Amino acid sequence: MALLLCQAKGDTAGSCLKTLSPNPGGVDLLPPEVCSLLNPAAIYANNEISLRDVEVYGFDYDYTLAQYADTLHPEIFSAARDILIEHYKYPEGIRKYDYNPSFAIRGLHYDIQKSLLMKIDAFHYVQLGTAYRGLQPVPDEEVIDLYGGTQHIPLYQMSGFYGKGPSIKQFMDIFSLPEMALLSCVVDHFLGHGLEFDQAHLYKDVTDAIRDVHVKGLMYQWIERDMEKYILRGDETFAVLSRLVAHGKQLFLITNSPFSFVDKGMRHMVGADWRQLFDVVIVQADKPSFFTDRRKPFRKLDEKGSLHWDRITRLEKGKIYRQGNLFDFLRLTEWRGPRVLYFGDHLYSDLADLMLRHGWRTGAIIPELEREIRIINTEQYMHSLTWQQALTGLLERMQTYQDAESRQVLAAWMKERQELRCITKALFNAQFGSIFRTFHNPTYFSRRLVRFSDLYMASLSCLLNYRVDFTFYPRRTPLQHEAPLWMDQLCTGCMKTPFLGDMAHIR
Ligand SMILES: [Mg+2]
Repeated sequence: MALLLCQAKGDTAGSCLKTLSPNPGGVDLLPPEVCSLLNPAAIYANNEISLRDVEVYGFDYDYTLAQYADTLHPEIFSAARDILIEHYKYPEGIRKYDYNPSFAIRGLHYDIQKSLLMKIDAFHYVQLGTAYRGLQPVPDEEVIDLYGGTQHIPLYQMSGFYGKGPSIKQFMDIFSLPEMALLSCVVDHFLGHGLEFDQAHLYKDVTDAIRDVHVKGLMYQWIERDMEKYILRGDETFAVLSRLVAHGKQLFLITNSPFSFVDKGMRHMVGADWRQLFDVVIVQADKPSFFTDRRKPFRKLDEKGSLHWDRITRLEKGKIYRQGNLFDFLRLTEWRGPRVLYFGDHLYSDLADLMLRHGWRTGAIIPELEREIRIINTEQYMHSLTWQQALTGLLERMQTYQDAESRQVLAAWMKERQELRCITKALFNAQFGSIFRTFHNPTYFSRRLVRFSDLYMASLSCLLNYRVDFTFYPRRTPLQHEAPLWMDQLCTGCMKTPFLGDMAHIR
């Protein structure tokens, strides 16, 4: 990797160029302390929040209190694939596909009519190089052609408030990883064998087959059969809950899962008396409509799973309630506004309504954060990012030189910058890159994360690293018009950007 350095002293960019290695003159591009700066066990704040003010803690169950091992994904994939063959009469040939854990990432969009799986940024642009039909990449020119000469997806086609647009759906939950993988394999088989198919039917059948894995209770059975294997960090969940109770906090649980399943998992993580920790337990809540539909009343459920018919006038500790709605919940508990902090892993189904309509504080559990931070902490990533930033700065400042030699140099920088971007992207995922960024922009997923959560973290256990009266202060990041006021190392995220001294006079 060679970089052409412009010292900007001549009349043309080209006249003052020389070729340098990425480690010019023995100067370290990265000081030793720059790697491993980020802590994967930290909690990150989008908004200032003091835990001292939080009196009530609420939790989702799946992937929030109970973190599941990724070994669940191949099982969901295989079971849904077999359901497609056996019940939906799909070709036997799709049985040859196995789950590829490295194919998709969360937050991708799927255009049903075009059978396109793709990553979209915060401005509704498809990230070029990240559109796949089946298992094959779709050339950038074809993507642009498919959307009428642009890579921008118009608002009316985009996934709506809950990730479901008229023709484009966003895959937001963690279970959707095997769903995206299966969808891509099935499309791959149909295309590869020249089979005629209706994209909408195929999408619906795959979605239904994945849903059947849940509805038939297969996933619950696997987890219940071997909780040691599937449930991660149970002891840390127990430590979080008991510490909050010891500090006088009130706790509640709102989950869409059935009681028998939650009960077994909580007994495994916390013990038989787990309900003593919670002031209210609500199962099969039917989120997200739980947060918006006033009509569904709470029902009491006994230990054997029988429903009672009496009218619910209070929510009692130790009892189990089914369904209900948030409006009755607020009326009965009087847990309102910013003294309530609710944790969930689904940005739409768990957090959006609470943040936008009800003013609760919210915490997002994003397991991918741990792996992505470990990648950001590597020297390879930091080196590549710093070099990209340096090239971007040079391109911006030197673009006024338009003589033939300079244009050649600018084109070489542009090419090198693009190569570096692709290398950096592939560090996270070869097809789609990071779930948080499309090259330099935030992803659509990231924008929703910032909008719907006060805090985000890899796992609930991160709470153990902070006092229960800790105040989280978000880092002040520059708005674009403020950026020149900021020291360059803060803007780039790096401690040192080379050659800035050389360019000082044109800044
Ligand atoms: Mg969940």
